[in-house]
Amino acid sequence: MTDYELPPGAKWREFELRALGFRSFARVRADAPLDPFRLAKFANLLVLDFDQIKGLSVKTREHLLGSASEAWSGGACSRPLPDGRKIVILNPQHGRLRTNATLMEEISHVFLGHQPNRLHIVAEDERGRAISRDYRKADEEAAYGIGAAALVPYSSLRRSVLKGQTAFQIARHFRVSRELVEYRLKVTRLWRTYRAAHPVREKD
Ligand SMILES: [Zn+2]
Repeated sequence: MTDYELPPGAKWREFELRALGFRSFARVRADAPLDPFRLAKFANLLVLDFDQIKGLSVKTREHLLGSASEAWSGGACSRPLPDGRKIVILNPQHGRLRTNATLMEEISHVFLGHQPNRLHIVAEDERGRAISRDYRKADEEAAYGIGAAALVPYSSLRRSVLKGQTAFQIARHFRVSRELVEYRLKVTRLWRTYRAAHPVREKD
Protein backbone atom coordinates (compact mmCIF):
# COMPACT_ATOMS: atom_id res chain seq x y z
CA MET A 1 0.00 0.00 0.00
CA THR A 2 1.51 3.27 -1.09
CA ASP A 3 1.46 6.10 1.37
CA TYR A 4 0.48 8.97 -0.90
CA GLU A 5 1.44 12.51 -0.13
CA LEU A 6 -1.51 14.90 -0.15
CA PRO A 7 -1.58 18.67 -0.71
CA PRO A 8 -2.51 21.15 2.05
CA GLY A 9 -6.15 22.14 2.53
CA ALA A 10 -9.16 19.89 3.15
CA LYS A 11 -10.77 20.51 -0.25
CA TRP A 12 -7.60 19.83 -2.22
CA ARG A 13 -6.88 16.71 -0.16
CA GLU A 14 -10.30 15.39 -1.03
CA PHE A 15 -9.84 16.31 -4.71
CA GLU A 16 -6.45 14.55 -4.70
CA LEU A 17 -7.90 11.35 -3.23
CA ARG A 18 -10.64 11.30 -5.87
CA ALA A 19 -8.04 11.92 -8.59
CA LEU A 20 -5.85 9.10 -7.27
CA GLY A 21 -8.94 6.89 -7.48
CA PHE A 22 -9.32 7.79 -11.18
CA ARG A 23 -5.64 7.04 -11.74
CA SER A 24 -5.75 3.63 -10.06
CA PHE A 25 -8.89 2.84 -12.05
CA ALA A 26 -6.91 3.61 -15.21
CA ARG A 27 -4.05 1.46 -13.81
CA VAL A 28 -1.50 4.19 -14.46
CA ARG A 29 1.74 4.27 -12.45
CA ALA A 30 2.24 7.01 -9.86
CA ASP A 31 4.58 9.12 -11.99
CA ALA A 32 3.23 8.22 -15.44
CA PRO A 33 1.09 10.46 -17.64
CA LEU A 34 -2.62 9.61 -17.77
CA ASP A 35 -4.19 9.30 -21.22
CA PRO A 36 -7.80 10.54 -20.92
CA PHE A 37 -8.68 9.02 -24.30
CA ARG A 38 -8.15 5.56 -22.77
CA LEU A 39 -10.12 6.50 -19.67
CA ALA A 40 -13.03 7.89 -21.75
CA LYS A 41 -14.18 4.37 -22.65
CA PHE A 42 -14.55 3.45 -18.96
CA ALA A 43 -16.59 6.62 -18.47
CA ASN A 44 -18.88 5.47 -21.31
CA LEU A 45 -17.96 8.50 -23.38
CA LEU A 46 -17.80 8.33 -27.15
CA VAL A 47 -15.30 10.90 -28.39
CA LEU A 48 -16.34 11.99 -31.87
CA ASP A 49 -14.12 13.64 -34.38
CA PHE A 50 -15.39 17.08 -35.33
CA ASP A 51 -15.44 15.99 -38.99
CA GLN A 52 -17.93 13.23 -38.13
CA ILE A 53 -20.62 15.80 -37.29
CA LYS A 54 -23.11 15.86 -40.13
CA GLY A 55 -25.34 18.72 -41.12
CA LEU A 56 -23.11 21.67 -40.29
CA SER A 57 -23.06 24.28 -43.00
CA VAL A 58 -19.72 25.37 -44.42
CA LYS A 59 -20.28 28.74 -42.78
CA THR A 60 -20.97 27.23 -39.34
CA ARG A 61 -17.97 24.94 -39.63
CA GLU A 62 -15.73 27.84 -40.57
CA HIS A 63 -17.13 29.87 -37.69
CA LEU A 64 -16.53 27.12 -35.10
CA LEU A 65 -13.02 26.34 -36.29
CA GLY A 66 -12.08 29.87 -37.28
CA SER A 67 -13.14 33.10 -35.60
CA ALA A 68 -15.04 31.33 -32.78
CA SER A 69 -12.46 28.61 -32.17
CA GLU A 70 -11.14 30.20 -28.98
CA ALA A 71 -14.69 30.38 -27.58
CA TRP A 72 -15.15 26.63 -27.16
CA SER A 73 -13.00 23.67 -26.08
CA GLY A 74 -15.45 20.84 -26.18
CA GLY A 75 -18.90 19.69 -25.24
CA ALA A 76 -20.81 16.62 -24.13
CA CYS A 77 -24.35 15.82 -25.10
CA SER A 78 -26.32 15.20 -21.91
CA ARG A 79 -28.74 12.78 -23.53
CA PRO A 80 -27.05 9.36 -23.89
CA LEU A 81 -27.16 7.15 -26.97
CA PRO A 82 -29.42 4.05 -26.80
CA ASP A 83 -26.40 1.99 -25.66
CA GLY A 84 -25.81 4.39 -22.75
CA ARG A 85 -22.77 6.15 -24.14
CA LYS A 86 -22.53 9.92 -24.14
CA ILE A 87 -21.09 11.83 -27.07
CA VAL A 88 -18.20 14.22 -26.52
CA ILE A 89 -16.96 16.56 -29.23
CA LEU A 90 -13.58 18.26 -28.87
CA ASN A 91 -12.28 21.30 -30.68
CA PRO A 92 -9.74 19.95 -33.21
CA GLN A 93 -8.00 23.35 -33.37
CA HIS A 94 -6.88 23.26 -29.75
CA GLY A 95 -4.15 20.66 -29.92
CA ARG A 96 -3.63 17.56 -27.81
CA LEU A 97 -2.44 19.25 -24.60
CA ARG A 98 -5.53 21.43 -24.18
CA THR A 99 -7.79 18.64 -25.42
CA ASN A 100 -6.45 16.27 -22.74
CA ALA A 101 -7.62 18.69 -20.02
CA THR A 102 -11.01 19.27 -21.67
CA LEU A 103 -11.70 15.55 -22.05
CA MET A 104 -10.48 14.84 -18.51
CA GLU A 105 -13.02 17.34 -17.20
CA GLU A 106 -15.83 15.57 -19.05
CA ILE A 107 -14.66 12.23 -17.60
CA SER A 108 -14.62 13.73 -14.11
CA HIS A 109 -18.24 14.86 -14.46
CA VAL A 110 -19.24 11.29 -15.31
CA PHE A 111 -17.21 9.60 -12.55
CA LEU A 112 -18.43 12.15 -10.01
CA GLY A 113 -22.04 11.53 -11.04
CA HIS A 114 -22.81 15.13 -11.99
CA GLN A 115 -26.08 15.71 -13.80
CA PRO A 116 -26.05 18.30 -16.59
CA ASN A 117 -29.20 19.98 -17.81
CA ARG A 118 -28.62 20.34 -21.51
CA LEU A 119 -25.58 20.46 -23.73
CA HIS A 120 -22.44 20.86 -21.67
CA ILE A 121 -20.17 23.50 -23.14
CA VAL A 122 -16.66 24.25 -21.97
CA ALA A 123 -15.27 27.55 -23.12
CA GLU A 124 -12.69 30.02 -21.97
CA ASP A 125 -13.17 33.57 -20.82
CA GLU A 126 -11.00 36.49 -21.92
CA ARG A 127 -8.35 35.60 -19.32
CA GLY A 128 -8.06 32.05 -20.63
CA ARG A 129 -9.84 30.41 -17.68
CA ALA A 130 -12.20 27.58 -18.37
CA ILE A 131 -15.83 28.57 -18.02
CA SER A 132 -18.70 26.19 -18.43
CA ARG A 133 -22.45 26.16 -18.34
CA ASP A 134 -25.12 23.73 -17.29
CA TYR A 135 -23.50 22.20 -14.25
CA ARG A 136 -23.63 23.73 -10.78
CA LYS A 137 -20.64 25.97 -10.06
CA ALA A 138 -19.37 23.61 -7.33
CA ASP A 139 -19.59 20.67 -9.75
CA GLU A 140 -17.58 22.59 -12.33
CA GLU A 141 -14.86 23.39 -9.82
CA ALA A 142 -14.68 19.78 -8.64
CA ALA A 143 -14.65 18.31 -12.16
CA TYR A 144 -11.91 20.64 -13.36
CA GLY A 145 -9.88 20.47 -10.13
CA ILE A 146 -10.04 16.68 -9.81
CA GLY A 147 -9.42 16.21 -13.54
CA ALA A 148 -6.30 18.39 -13.30
CA ALA A 149 -5.12 16.46 -10.23
CA ALA A 150 -5.58 13.18 -12.09
CA LEU A 151 -3.45 14.50 -14.96
CA VAL A 152 -0.77 16.03 -12.69
CA PRO A 153 -0.79 14.24 -9.30
CA TYR A 154 0.58 16.11 -6.30
CA SER A 155 3.28 13.72 -5.06
CA SER A 156 4.86 13.53 -8.48
CA LEU A 157 4.50 17.29 -9.03
CA ARG A 158 6.16 18.01 -5.70
CA ARG A 159 9.08 15.69 -6.43
CA SER A 160 9.57 17.34 -9.84
CA VAL A 161 9.62 20.80 -8.25
CA LEU A 162 12.15 19.71 -5.62
CA LYS A 163 14.32 18.28 -8.41
CA GLY A 164 14.33 21.74 -10.00
CA GLN A 165 12.24 20.93 -13.08
CA THR A 166 10.49 23.77 -14.89
CA ALA A 167 6.72 23.92 -15.41
CA PHE A 168 7.40 23.38 -19.10
CA GLN A 169 9.36 20.16 -18.42
CA ILE A 170 6.66 18.89 -16.06
CA ALA A 171 3.97 19.76 -18.61
CA ARG A 172 5.80 17.90 -21.35
CA HIS A 173 6.10 14.81 -19.13
CA PHE A 174 2.39 14.75 -18.24
CA ARG A 175 1.26 15.81 -21.76
CA VAL A 176 -0.63 18.87 -20.55
CA SER A 177 -0.23 22.61 -21.09
CA ARG A 178 2.21 24.63 -19.00
CA GLU A 179 -0.79 26.67 -17.80
CA LEU A 180 -2.33 23.54 -16.30
CA VAL A 181 0.90 22.75 -14.44
CA GLU A 182 1.04 26.34 -13.14
CA TYR A 183 -2.59 26.03 -11.97
CA ARG A 184 -1.68 22.81 -10.12
CA LEU A 185 1.38 24.47 -8.54
CA LYS A 186 -0.82 27.30 -7.26
CA VAL A 187 -3.74 25.27 -5.88
CA THR A 188 -1.41 22.80 -4.14
CA ARG A 189 0.63 25.68 -2.68
CA LEU A 190 3.88 24.65 -4.36
CA TRP A 191 4.01 27.93 -6.26
CA ARG A 192 6.30 29.79 -3.85
CA THR A 193 8.78 26.92 -3.74
CA TYR A 194 8.64 26.74 -7.52
CA ARG A 195 9.08 30.49 -8.00
CA ALA A 196 12.02 30.56 -5.56
CA ALA A 197 13.80 28.08 -7.82
CA HIS A 198 12.66 29.75 -11.07
CA PRO A 199 12.38 33.50 -10.41
CA VAL A 200 12.31 34.44 -14.10
CA ARG A 201 9.49 33.24 -16.24
CA GLU A 202 11.13 30.72 -18.55
CA LYS A 203 10.47 30.80 -22.25
CA ASP A 204 8.66 27.94 -23.90
ZN1 LIG B 1 -17.55 21.02 -16.83
